[in-house]
Amino acid sequence: MNHTDIHPLSGGLALSVPTNAHIDATLHTAPLAPQLYLPLVDYSRTVLQPNVTLGQSVLAGQSVARGIIAPSSGTITAYIEHSWPHPSNTQVPTLVLQSDGQDRFIPIDHVHPLERIEAAAVHGLGGAGFSTAAKIRKACEFGRPTLVVNAVECEPGIACDDALMQQQPRAVLEACRSLIELLGVYSAQFAIEDDKQLALNALQACEPEQYAVDIVTLPVIYPSGAEAPLIQRLTGIALEYDQRAADVGVVCLNVATVLSIHNALQGRPAVDRIVSITTQDLHHSINIRTRFGTPVNALMTFAASINPAIATALQQNSSTITVGGPLSGFQKTLDTSPILATTNALLVGPADPVPTPSACIRCAECTVACPVNLLPQELYTAAVTEDIDTANRYLLDVCVLCGCCDLVCPADIPLTSWFRFAKDAKRQRQQEQTAATLARARSDNHNERETRRAQEKAEADAARRAQAAQRKESAADIKAAIARAKNRRPRS
Ligand code: SF4
Ligand code: SF4
Repeated sequence: MNHTDIHPLSGGLALSVPTNAHIDATLHTAPLAPQLYLPLVDYSRTVLQPNVTLGQSVLAGQSVARGIIAPSSGTITAYIEHSWPHPSNTQVPTLVLQSDGQDRFIPIDHVHPLERIEAAAVHGLGGAGFSTAAKIRKACEFGRPTLVVNAVECEPGIACDDALMQQQPRAVLEACRSLIELLGVYSAQFAIEDDKQLALNALQACEPEQYAVDIVTLPVIYPSGAEAPLIQRLTGIALEYDQRAADVGVVCLNVATVLSIHNALQGRPAVDRIVSITTQDLHHSINIRTRFGTPVNALMTFAASINPAIATALQQNSSTITVGGPLSGFQKTLDTSPILATTNALLVGPADPVPTPSACIRCAECTVACPVNLLPQELYTAAVTEDIDTANRYLLDVCVLCGCCDLVCPADIPLTSWFRFAKDAKRQRQQEQTAATLARARSDNHNERETRRAQEKAEADAARRAQAAQRKESAADIKAAIARAKNRRPRS
């Protein structure tokens, strides 16, 4: 497939990295942190129950809660409320793992490949952090799926997949072939943007056709790396507002996730990821492989130790960072929040001052820029008034939080922050509704049980009374029979 076969994307922005940007594609490895923090929440922010106890020793790869594994060996020393890299800036229940420095692994030896991927806790490394096994299962419900490998990393400041492809192109292609065999498909469409020339060269040098990998180069338009725009550009299928790629039989996986799957099939659990650490001006970027659970401040200290520009940026602002890219990211206090599967980039240094927003002038620039055809100005009005029903009507769930609308808004309205807030408010409302429904169901069950118990008791009492009456009647009958018998006895 080449450029001419690519379906057009309505909206989006052609972004480019600064011409003087220095992206170091070397893959550095962070030292193992003495303490790793494991938030017990899944991608939908449901709190998970730990299946380990305080003081318990664990091995790397051992399950500590549903879908969460220990990233290294050591001892579970605490169960606390702890900050995590999430725009809500909240704290969540978190296990603290004191590493023993030995990094001993538990073997992943499930026979069924999907069970192996699940046991290895492979989650999407590209964005939302969904369970990969669940995604594959869903897409396979439709028979033989279409496989799309997503190597489209179009936001400046994020270069972790670019570095992976440059450094390990053959491993990436072998991983693609593993997945092709696992899914029983003929080939994989490997989507990459045409400005990733070094990565493209590295992949082409390994003869991707030998691995049944069809490399598709896309012109740079942000956010083509988001699932819905990518599927639309490659297949022409426009996902409905409540659909994901798996719902239309497409397995769409980030390139680093594909390598994680391959590793899992070889028996290695998913315990780490590559994180891009970039200065806020996007001039300097390095890529570090680090364990999940590593405190962000420890990773930042390591980054500063190997890159002077990052060290300087850190000195200029050591209190806040941006988690994610310059458009899709969010501000966060620099603390011991852990690296998660979704933490693809950290921006360090002083951010540009936030301009004061003015009133919306209904120019519709945001609508033109939106890659998923939303009406951001209407969504914004609903979000600021917390009118979630109206926000739903304007398809809040479809918003991919890409930040394109922010970038073009002449009124400097932080639209994406409002949409994030509205999504959070909606999730909270749904959780409250679920809790209320559960409480009502519990109360109804309780009342039903009480009514049944009272009814059973009344029936048992009635039965007892009837038995007693019958006994009394029988006793009277016996007495009468004896009397009659006595009367019939012949007189001597
Ligand atoms: S771009 Fe900004 S000012 Fe223009 S319609 Fe959208 S929200 Fe309003
Ligand atoms: S943040 Fe949401 S509304 Fe704004 S352009 Fe991106 S997808 Fe559209």
